[in-house]
Amino acid sequence: MSGRWDGLLLDIDGVLHVGDEAIPGAVDTLAKLRAAGVPLRLVTNTTSRPRAAVTDRLQRLGFDVETDDLLTPAAMAVRLCRERGYERVALITAHALKQDLSELEAVVSPGSAVDAVIVGDLGPGFSYGVLNGAFRSLLRGADLIALQRNRYWRRPEGLVLDAGPFIAALEYGSGVTATVVGKPSPAFFLAAVDELGLTADKVAMIGDDLEADVGGALDAGLAGILVQTGKFRADELDDSPIDPTLVIESVADAPALVGISGNAYT
Ligand SMILES: [Mg+2]
Repeated sequence: MSGRWDGLLLDIDGVLHVGDEAIPGAVDTLAKLRAAGVPLRLVTNTTSRPRAAVTDRLQRLGFDVETDDLLTPAAMAVRLCRERGYERVALITAHALKQDLSELEAVVSPGSAVDAVIVGDLGPGFSYGVLNGAFRSLLRGADLIALQRNRYWRRPEGLVLDAGPFIAALEYGSGVTATVVGKPSPAFFLAAVDELGLTADKVAMIGDDLEADVGGALDAGLAGILVQTGKFRADELDDSPIDPTLVIESVADAPALVGISGNAYT
């Protein structure tokens, strides 16, 4: 039995779990994909916690994953800084994420002259003082690196602002345009495809974010598949110019995409 695709990229938040609750069927689905030897990576825009903590939580929820299965924007940011020769950076990120950015020299004093300001999801930490410090560094010539620019995400208590709106505020204030290293950056998807040893046309990205997951994957030449879990909103899909390759109920429908147990999508 063969499916339309040979490999999968799976988003984590809203696809495998929401908060401390696994999406129904997700644990079994991942086990099934593993058992069939399907090449896959987990690609997340989560920047509120380091890769090790994301892996820990998935393992606690019963998912068969290792840290190396995960691709995160922080690793891409380190790679970009290395390519551009950046050393001194201002980190506007969750404290815990700093362990994934430890290769870079973080300058702590707000408004300093730095090579780049790196911004991730800081949640309630996005204060006026933090944003203004970043703004001043940008005026002094720093580049703006966005780990991601998602508009919002779903916490157990409801939708909350993500890093995107704050990146937009910094761009608006400073006139500096951000370089996005996480989804929907094509480089992020292509790095993942490369790790799978496949070509983009043989890989499907499954996510709950229409712009970052589906739109980004389509732009990079992958299939973009939307799940109706997590932050999925039917009205957003109706109003968007982004046309997913497929809309599936949840990640539990993923095995059929690669030709396992049923051929609904082959
Ligand atoms: Mg998600």
